[in-house]
Amino acid sequence: MKKNILKIAAVCAMSALMMSALAGCGATKDKNDETTASAEKLIMATNAEFPPYEYHENDKIVGIDAEVAQAIADKLGMELEIEDMAFDSIIPAVQSGKASIGVAGMTVTEDRLVNVNFSDTYSHGKQVIIVKDDSPIALPDDLKGKKVGVQTSTTGDIYITDDYGDESVERYQKGADAIQALLQDKIDAVVIDSEPAKVFVSENEGLKTLDTPYVEEDYAIALAKDNTELLDKINSALAELKQDGTLDKIINKYITSK
Ligand code: GLN
Repeated sequence: MKKNILKIAAVCAMSALMMSALAGCGATKDKNDETTASAEKLIMATNAEFPPYEYHENDKIVGIDAEVAQAIADKLGMELEIEDMAFDSIIPAVQSGKASIGVAGMTVTEDRLVNVNFSDTYSHGKQVIIVKDDSPIALPDDLKGKKVGVQTSTTGDIYITDDYGDESVERYQKGADAIQALLQDKIDAVVIDSEPAKVFVSENEGLKTLDTPYVEEDYAIALAKDNTELLDKINSALAELKQDGTLDKIINKYITSK
């Protein structure tokens, strides 16, 4: 215990040397907090493993969701901060108030609506099936009895588990890891959203996406149940962004072949 306190004190002393900000290190509230107080923060929880909606480019998180959230923050006069986390941590982060919004190509589902509210839809997706070029799997029904890779807690995971049982599902933290497993013949197929599927198939030789999608879905922004004030503001901002063409412009920048 004592050791921990010492460690914290040392870290604080170091950060005090490195930066003038003392926040979080037990300093009394600085007057500056008020005078230089910047805009209220809009904290976006996401999982930046989902191109073209969110992914890393150099050391930045970019993509459709990052730009849509930035456009919303601009409209609301808020400062956007993006927190990258596991996909299944996003809803808990929003529920606990650690994040103000969850923007992650997130599909609106009845089950999620029990825990969070969703904004109006801003984009659409499909769950599609990726297989190796020489796979005997040609239709969704062919997945029966096969090993299907999914990203943990995504709708792909939920649907495959519902339809074929837990024993059919191999769960991965990243879609890209499921793709690697498919390339190594550890699994027979991957079920994932259509846009990341396009990226993964184009980046890896020997894979194809089946023409018949598994399910069609709507993407929306998740908010805490009690944060209806922000929900209203976000819906108004989204309506403006739809009307003035900004939303289409952002989406078309990342999704070229529609
Ligand atoms: N649309 C899927 C879902 O909401 C996947 C989202 C993601 O992997 N970021 O579950």
